Amino acid sequence: MTDTMARVASETDMTFEFPQQLFIDGAWTDAAAGDRFDVTNPATGAVLAQIADGRRDDARRALDVAVATQQAWADTPPRERSEILRRAYELILEHADELAMLITLEMGKPLADARGEVSYGAEFFRWFAEEAVRVGGDHTLSGDGKTRIIVTREPVGPCVVVTPWNFPLAMGTRKIGPALAAGCTVVFKPAEQTPLTALYLAHILSLAGLPDGVVNVVTTTTPAEVVGYWLDSGQARKLSFTGSTEVGRILLAQASKHVMRTSMELGGNAPFIVCSDADIDTAVEGAITAKMRNMGEACTAANRLYVHADVVEEFTRRFAERMAALRLGPGWEDGVQVGPLIDADALRKVESLVRDAVERGARVATGGESPSEGLLYPPTVLADVSPDCELASTEIFGPVAPVFTFTDDDEAVRRANDTEWGLVAYIFTRDIDRAFRLAGRLEVGMVGINTGLVSNPAGPFGGVKSSGIGREGGRWGIDEYLEYKYLAIPRR
Ligand code: NAP
Repeated sequence: MTDTMARVASETDMTFEFPQQLFIDGAWTDAAAGDRFDVTNPATGAVLAQIADGRRDDARRALDVAVATQQAWADTPPRERSEILRRAYELILEHADELAMLITLEMGKPLADARGEVSYGAEFFRWFAEEAVRVGGDHTLSGDGKTRIIVTREPVGPCVVVTPWNFPLAMGTRKIGPALAAGCTVVFKPAEQTPLTALYLAHILSLAGLPDGVVNVVTTTTPAEVVGYWLDSGQARKLSFTGSTEVGRILLAQASKHVMRTSMELGGNAPFIVCSDADIDTAVEGAITAKMRNMGEACTAANRLYVHADVVEEFTRRFAERMAALRLGPGWEDGVQVGPLIDADALRKVESLVRDAVERGARVATGGESPSEGLLYPPTVLADVSPDCELASTEIFGPVAPVFTFTDDDEAVRRANDTEWGLVAYIFTRDIDRAFRLAGRLEVGMVGINTGLVSNPAGPFGGVKSSGIGREGGRWGIDEYLEYKYLAIPRR
């Protein structure tokens, strides 16, 4: 550890050091204007740290360095890039306790979930360490046989990476892993509410031997100024964004100025379909996972549960029993399964959505009342929900599960597709043909069949419609950071 890292005693017994400055050109540095901002613990409201608040000058410095380093990093042998990523993977696991605690402290999720995110996030580095040495090309002949066509793959160039607060580690590694594997440098702006994990990740990359300037992190309270500078500069070649559809649209418009490559992982409104022949145990388990991972603050969260009329009563009763048994509290306490929401706005939004549903006739099967203090909201199941209530067309981003009833598969598909989003859907049925049939008709990028979890570093994560452009993970993930170049050579 360096003296640029502060040792902070947390609410827990664990004390550890973590960086609190910008990371530019391999060095920890204050913002040019010297400003700092508070990072708070959503479980207590306590200030965890005061970190550097980057502005336009810092954005410029970070991008200049990323641009200057681009060629050397692209020229670094793939095996070297791969081994740095592999070391970073191992270091994340060695520092899993610190990383998980940072995630819990700044974002609120229970420690068990945070540990899950650390393993998931680390895996992107291992996966793309393996992909770095497998970037191929092609060789073919023109139709008339007179020209050799050689196709090479080259790094896109300096990448702008912007991430949300809900998976502070994994959303970073899912982008930085393939970018580095492909030979791209990075300027990285993590979410304002969860910058500590991102800075710790930069520390790990530095320990792993990443050359100075390849990844540069600018934390800020003025995202539009920092990211706007990067997109406007004409020097960055790629934008990789995860966040809301609303902000995604703004950034897409800005990225169009220089016709940048974009990967956009945006919002969701996932339908969760339980057919009449579903195994109810599996469906209830799947609903707990799909709804409660991250307290419902996940783009993949089941947002609308469509349950066949024949099984809706049994499913709702058993699901509500499971939800009611979940333990709420600060994420670092033993046995806690549901932590606080990220902030007061998130809590107010959830409360207002539930109020609206109840006013339109929904029955509260469990939950529905927030405790008087803090940002905790109880796991809530709403039955007999009217299709026109607000939460049917809003990303809830909280532990609230509205159950709607359907009577035939066509109706389930029609209602599932009746949204601008198309990230993921879940289907529960014992009939595999039915599952394939439904999956084929759902307008989404991913389908969980008899499972409530699709996120997997080996799979292509991403959506259609307003849920985004591009895929992250699997052998497809690196394509987002590579261009094709074709060489035409006359054949003599
Ligand atoms: P957000 O408000 O869109 O913010 C995402 C990132 O964009 C943050 O770093 C934010 O900075 C930055 N940002 C905000 N306004 C900006 C602007 N005008 N210019 C440049 N950058 C700007 O989203 P969020 O609330 O953090 O995250 C929740 C959303 O992310 C949900 O909609 C969720 O579905 C989506 N999400 C999608 C996926 C996926 O893979 N599809 C995964 C996870 C989350 P600040 O933090 O400073 O505001």
